Amino acid sequence: MKISNRLAKLRQRMAEKETEAVLISQPENRHYLSGFSGSSGFLLVTLGSAILATDFRYVEQSERQAPDYDIFKIAGDIKSWFPNLIDGLNLRKLGFEADHLSFDMYRRLSNILDDSGLQTRLVPITGLVEPIRAVKEPEEIELITQAVAISDAALEKTVATIQAGMIEEEVAWEIEKTLRNNGSQPLPFDVIVASGPNAALPHAGPSRRAIQPGEPVVIDIGARVQGYNSDLSRTICLGTADDTLKRVYKVVMEARMAAITSTTEGMTGAQADGFARETIERAGYSDSFGHGLGHGLGLATHEKPHLSPNSRDTLVNGMVFTIEPGIYLTGWGGVRIEDTVIMENGKIRVLSRAKKMEVGV
Ligand code: ZN
Repeated sequence: MKISNRLAKLRQRMAEKETEAVLISQPENRHYLSGFSGSSGFLLVTLGSAILATDFRYVEQSERQAPDYDIFKIAGDIKSWFPNLIDGLNLRKLGFEADHLSFDMYRRLSNILDDSGLQTRLVPITGLVEPIRAVKEPEEIELITQAVAISDAALEKTVATIQAGMIEEEVAWEIEKTLRNNGSQPLPFDVIVASGPNAALPHAGPSRRAIQPGEPVVIDIGARVQGYNSDLSRTICLGTADDTLKRVYKVVMEARMAAITSTTEGMTGAQADGFARETIERAGYSDSFGHGLGHGLGLATHEKPHLSPNSRDTLVNGMVFTIEPGIYLTGWGGVRIEDTVIMENGKIRVLSRAKKMEVGV
C-alpha cells in the first residue's frame, strides 16, 4: 500500500473542501491513511505535513508502520501536548471528524485552543476519508479475497458437521474456532447462528436453542486478514425443508441474482437495492426485507458504499460490498444469503464461494 498516494488523495479532497488541516481520530481512517494499526492516536494532516501523535506504548510501532509521518509523542496533560502539536503550523481552521470525535473531546480541545492564544478554530468535517476508502487498491482486494476464502472454508467445514439437536452456541463456537485456525485475526463481529424463529431476527445472537430438522438456520460470519474483513451469510436446513422455506429461499435467491446481474457501474446504492427489493415485493413479501441490500466492507465491516433504499452512493469500479437480501417472517424464521462482491469492469463479480443450500426447488 502506498501511503503517499492515499495522502495525495486526501489532500486533494481537503483542497476541494477548502480545509487546510484535519485531525483524524477515527480508527480505520487513521490506519488507512498512515499504515499504523495501533489502537490509539491522532493524525494531523495539513497540505504540507503529516504528523502521527501517539503515546509511549505505540511510538516504536508507529515509527515502523508509518514512515511517511513525523511521530509526535503524546505525554502529560492534553493541555500541554495539544498546543505543542499544532504550534508552528499557523492553522486558522482545524477540521475534526464530527462523526467520530466525542463531544467531550471536542469541548476540551476548543477550551484548550481558546486558552492558548493560538488563532486555530475547530471546524467539523464529515465524509472526507470514507469515499477514498470505498474504492479499493489491488493489495486491499487481495486481502479481502483472503478473508473471503477463510470464511468460505470455515462455513463449509462446519456446515458439513452440523446435526439436528446441536445448540446454536455450540455451532457458533465451532465456526469461531475454525475461522481462527484457518488464519483469521480476531473476528470482526460475533458469529450469528439463528435457527427456526430466531432466524426472523436479522442480528440474533446464538442462543441455547437446539436446532430442529426442517427449519431455516441463518449463519452469518466474517473473517479478518491484516485488518481487512469478509462478510458471509448462508441459510441452511437440516433434513427436509418445509414448503415455506422452499418458497422463501427461492425468492431470496432470485433477489440476489437480480441485484448481481442488473447492478452496473454508475448506479446508486438505492438502484441496486431496488432490484432485490422489487423481486421480494413482487413475490408478496413486502414488509419482510427490513434492512438494506448491502454495505461496503474493508477495514470496517460496514463502510461506504451503502446499498439501501435511500442511498445516493454511486457504485464504481474497485468498490467491495455485500449483497445480502433476506426475508424475515416473525414466528417462523428467516432466510438471508450474503456474498462479498466487487464492482469490476463495470459489473459485479462475486468473491464468496461458499456453497448454497439445495432446497429442492
Ligand atoms: Zn453484512
